Amino acid sequence: MRGTVLYAPGDVRVEDRPDPRIEQPTDAVIHLAATCVCGSDLWPYRGIEPVNQPTPMGHEYVGIVEEVGSEVRTIKPGQFVVGSFFASDNTCELCRAGYQTSCVHREFAAATGAQAQYARIALADGTLVATPGLPDPDLIPSLLAASDVLGTGWFGAVAAEVGPGKTVAVVGDGAVGLLAVLAARQLGAERIIAMSRHEPRQKLAPEFGATDLVTERGDEGVARVKELTGGLGAHSVIEAVGTQESMMQAIRSARPGGHVGYVGVAHDVALPGEELFFSHVHLHGGPAPVRQYLPELIGLIGDRAIDPGKVFDLTLPLEQAAEGYKAMDERRAIKTLLQP
Ligand SMILES: [Zn+2]
Repeated sequence: MRGTVLYAPGDVRVEDRPDPRIEQPTDAVIHLAATCVCGSDLWPYRGIEPVNQPTPMGHEYVGIVEEVGSEVRTIKPGQFVVGSFFASDNTCELCRAGYQTSCVHREFAAATGAQAQYARIALADGTLVATPGLPDPDLIPSLLAASDVLGTGWFGAVAAEVGPGKTVAVVGDGAVGLLAVLAARQLGAERIIAMSRHEPRQKLAPEFGATDLVTERGDEGVARVKELTGGLGAHSVIEAVGTQESMMQAIRSARPGGHVGYVGVAHDVALPGEELFFSHVHLHGGPAPVRQYLPELIGLIGDRAIDPGKVFDLTLPLEQAAEGYKAMDERRAIKTLLQP
């Protein structure tokens, strides 16, 4: 098969790779219908995370089950499936509590790399969710978004206790931030402040439900959120970047008693204890348990109640994955969909 490998920062290649095979009796092999480049793939691409060896890339996937292992019971060949970036058994105590990304059997779902024609998915019964029948082709981008960025934005909103009557601020205007806006809207937020500096993203945020845009960042961004909330700060803040600046912007934009849901993968973030102590802000976040939300999200997408696939503003054949990374790195694209 063809698959994407990162050799070094900036060096993405699509090359011949071994066809994935069933290795554990709980595995499935899927034929990818679509895959994509994640904002988190840009960390090693930019050299912020080390690339110690050639690494097969990709952890977002939808496709048709080709083959299953002998212990797989509920997932069947021919089904169209969506899954999360971490595999989970979906039966342990932590999974049942809704924290599938901390499953006691957690592992990477697609160790063979999902930016490829085929992928081996671990713990298939727990990890994968089948759609009711084959989806209409125009729904595939939205289902692909559910496998990570939508589920992650959704968890950010849930962790930030978004709900009816609440004012929500979203720090970060990448795909996760934009879909956190969509999630906040679905969860009934009254006012949604999107913090965005990039024009194409400023256009998409209101389509997903943002009521206000703040273009300033850092302390100035915090001051604008305070101005918009009677000096108090937002009830709920979703952090979708993962830097020191964005995390502090999120915490300082929340009112005392407010909640921050942080879903940007943290890179060198250190929190000041004394400021946190006096802030009265709740913090909850981490790798999103996307699996928990998949059945609900697949339903909303199938009903055409939401259209998260709009975050894909560039579609390329898999062979042009390198250009897909470059376009996102240079902010010419919000998110690149790759057609295997
Ligand atoms: Zn589990």
